[in-house]
Amino acid sequence: MSCVIDGDGTAGQAAESVRGRAFAIGLRNRFRGITVREGLLVHGPAGWGEFSPFAEYGPREASRWWAACREASHQGWPEPVRDRVPVNVTVPAVDPERAAAIVTAGGCSTAKVKVAEKGQDPSEDIARVEAVRSAIGPSGRVRIDANGAWGVDTAVRMVRELDRFDLEYVEQPCASLEELGAVRRRVDVPVAADESIRRAEDPLRVRAAEAADIVVLKVQPLGGVRAALRVAEACGLPVVVSSAVESSVGLAAGVALAAALPELPYACGLATMQMLTADVTTEPLLPVDGFLPVRPVTVDEEALSRVEVDASAWRERARNAAEAETPRESGERDSPPF
Ligand SMILES: [Mg+2]
Repeated sequence: MSCVIDGDGTAGQAAESVRGRAFAIGLRNRFRGITVREGLLVHGPAGWGEFSPFAEYGPREASRWWAACREASHQGWPEPVRDRVPVNVTVPAVDPERAAAIVTAGGCSTAKVKVAEKGQDPSEDIARVEAVRSAIGPSGRVRIDANGAWGVDTAVRMVRELDRFDLEYVEQPCASLEELGAVRRRVDVPVAADESIRRAEDPLRVRAAEAADIVVLKVQPLGGVRAALRVAEACGLPVVVSSAVESSVGLAAGVALAAALPELPYACGLATMQMLTADVTTEPLLPVDGFLPVRPVTVDEEALSRVEVDASAWRERARNAAEAETPRESGERDSPPF
């Protein structure tokens, strides 16, 4: 395969010669307002990497995603300390019968239930979580995710109400750190920060504000597996690794992070391949008995050809992202060691 980055892997030289293949894969349901997931796949001496920042991200923000792609393709990942990673099934804001069916079909012992959906009544959240608890059984774990949609008082009331189904934690009940902290002080259920974390410095802010008990980390926005490991260590809070809904190539980086963390007390949000209608490999990273295997993912030419699109705009984006990695930033603790 000829789609490689030439040069010695430094940002400037890589930027001159970004190759790579672009993909566009349909989503089964709308996610973050999009219906198609797009990105660039880059092959290098260490394997395949994915560069798939969301469309609204400029070069500065995308430079971290590019660093993650370069790490995957040029450097590879740290040694794993486990050979499989527990994952959760995600239950969208559907009716109770559908929620129970998703949990049963998922085969995972942890379920994440979306709550606080716009236009729905609190009673729908209660019925959904009740159905999920019933389907997963008393030994399963049930967490809820409000995606920042509740105010403090509503969050406190709903978390207390839903905790009769024994919640593992509540993810991003409110939007701001101040609100998260306020909820955390008023409920017994642990609070996880997800949307509050988009950059390497954010977990430290979460910790300093005492806003959460758990941090949700994603590899691409943090600039790679090593960068995310440093963030996790500096932050000191338990980590749940989550995906940015990537192809199996991007998911493999999340699995690599989860596999390398010294402690992994919670199931990860990496069972997201099902959200996409196709993949770029013949062996997608799909859960088996609630776990994802820790293994490399290889792009399959035929699978890629079914979702491949013109790469020129993506290569341009990657070049701009690479050039946005300033020397000063490269020397920062949270940037990868190139
Ligand atoms: Mg979330």
